[in-house]
Amino acid sequence: MNPGARMVLLGRQGAGKGTQCVRLSRHFVIPHISTGDMLRAAVREGTELGNMAKAIIDAGGLVSDDIMIGIVAERLEVDDARDRGYILDGFPRTVGQAESLDGITSERPLNMVIDLDVPRELVLERLSARRVCRDCGANFQATGTETGQWTCENCGGDVVQRDDDTPDAINRRLDLYETQTQPLIDYYGKTGRLVTVDGLGSPDEVFDRLTKAIEQRL
Ligand code: ADP
Repeated sequence: MNPGARMVLLGRQGAGKGTQCVRLSRHFVIPHISTGDMLRAAVREGTELGNMAKAIIDAGGLVSDDIMIGIVAERLEVDDARDRGYILDGFPRTVGQAESLDGITSERPLNMVIDLDVPRELVLERLSARRVCRDCGANFQATGTETGQWTCENCGGDVVQRDDDTPDAINRRLDLYETQTQPLIDYYGKTGRLVTVDGLGSPDEVFDRLTKAIEQRL
């Protein structure tokens, strides 16, 4: 079996991070750690964290760095992540989170940070058609012809439109991406950890590019 890897996947909302992370997680046999999925699960379960985060998420805002860093630090201590590594999706999203992540991972540092690059003009369309499985987080594209309840082909969960995939919240998240997350590209570029992968093309083409770029680097 391959030795695993510790990776971060950066990219705009709608760049295809969710889709590719599910595949990368299988290919490299590492957990896919999505902070968005973790927060949505907390909202669904009505935990204290979920109740606090719901309004922020629906408005397209960012949950505070302190809270997010706590959640991720705890998750990276679980055996699967300690032993095999992980692919982080949705974290870090600010330079503060990236600095904390370097602290948390000082003993087992990141192997690389991948920027899945898709221009802003192209992601808006993908996001309005996006549907997600409530249970496993798999992503689908609606064609407009679906009727009735949609069941996930991977796990049988409900496939729904996210509450924060409204035009206003999408635009707010994309603005935040430019101001808060784009600086991470410099942050990781300066320390030689950044690998940029073109996110245009079919999911298979992008996956092929990603695995080649990762294997070359490991
Ligand atoms: P998207 O990539 O479409 O913005 P995610 O599924 O990654 O969505 O996250 C959904 C929401 O969860 C974000 O808009 C934000 O409110 C919150 N969130 C997720 N990760 C973080 C993070 N690292 N820091 C702050 N808020 C976060």
